[in-house]
Amino acid sequence: MTQATTHEFKAETKQVLDIVVNSLYKDKEIFVRELISNASDALEKLRRTQLTEKDILDDNLELEINLSTDDSAKQLIIQDFGIGMTEEELVKNLGTIAHSGSKEFLNALQSEGEKNESLIGKFGVGFYSVFMVSDSVKAYTRTWQKEGEGLCWESDGSGGYSIDKTEGQRRGTKIVIQLKDEFEEFSKEDRIKDIVKKYSAFVQFPVSVNGEKVNTVDAIWLRSKSEIKDEEYEEFYKFQSNDYDSPLMRLHFSADAPLEINSLLFVPKRNMEKMGMFRSENKVALHCRKVLIDAEPKSLVSRMVKILKRCG
Ligand code: ADP
Repeated sequence: MTQATTHEFKAETKQVLDIVVNSLYKDKEIFVRELISNASDALEKLRRTQLTEKDILDDNLELEINLSTDDSAKQLIIQDFGIGMTEEELVKNLGTIAHSGSKEFLNALQSEGEKNESLIGKFGVGFYSVFMVSDSVKAYTRTWQKEGEGLCWESDGSGGYSIDKTEGQRRGTKIVIQLKDEFEEFSKEDRIKDIVKKYSAFVQFPVSVNGEKVNTVDAIWLRSKSEIKDEEYEEFYKFQSNDYDSPLMRLHFSADAPLEINSLLFVPKRNMEKMGMFRSENKVALHCRKVLIDAEPKSLVSRMVKILKRCG
């Protein structure tokens, strides 16, 4: 029997957790979106690792996201067969504020003096949002590297967390959420299916709930403009950018010749840099046949702007 190691959350992490858990944040369901988004990122990272590495643990596992509900136990489980985490990564990623939204949130809190409740709705706070609805959270994980080991991170979202070794863990991450009594709705299959349908339309991997596939893997930028509703664009933008607001404008451009190009560009309403919060970079991702090739290709934005100007 191994001994679990216990850790304290860093002060700023505690601060964010405390506000998230105790605020009157209305949109509790967004924690599902945040966790699906993390699972999707982990699968994307694995897919890219597969391009350069040969020795990958459980290389036959499907790149998919599985949710399961157990309403008698008031549990929700979100599992991916993605890149997984080592012990060091667990401490760094789940033990401290890794999420850029959380950092913005703290900055805004300090600089703007706004009410916590009104502020929190404006920022996605990533993984920590799960503590709004749960008594305890376990993250079982195993990295893609064959010499790695199965680990279980556990926390109730107050002072700290523990990490223990665990047997029989496959590659990737499984988040087991023990829901608070008042949020048992999130252990009901129909409720979770509705949320997943809303948010996972843009996830590039299959998402299933209790074994049934829920999303159609669909690259919105490949579809014809006339078929896409404003709300779909808006949801897509919010999903990608973690912005609470709708975009200021969008540009959906498609060409067939001489190259087949489909591009979708959004401009946010707020300039966070202007608000003195942090330096924000342009983010334009490059996909080829629906597969993400580069999440932040250097200089693509300026070249795209030039091309679009030429096209009028
Ligand atoms: P963000 O996803 O914006 O970075 P989060 O707070 O949601 O912020 O997550 C923090 C970090 O934890 C992620 O950047 C990632 O490195 C790690 N992480 C979270 N969920 C997973 C997962 N399912 N698989 C692998 N790593 C994960």
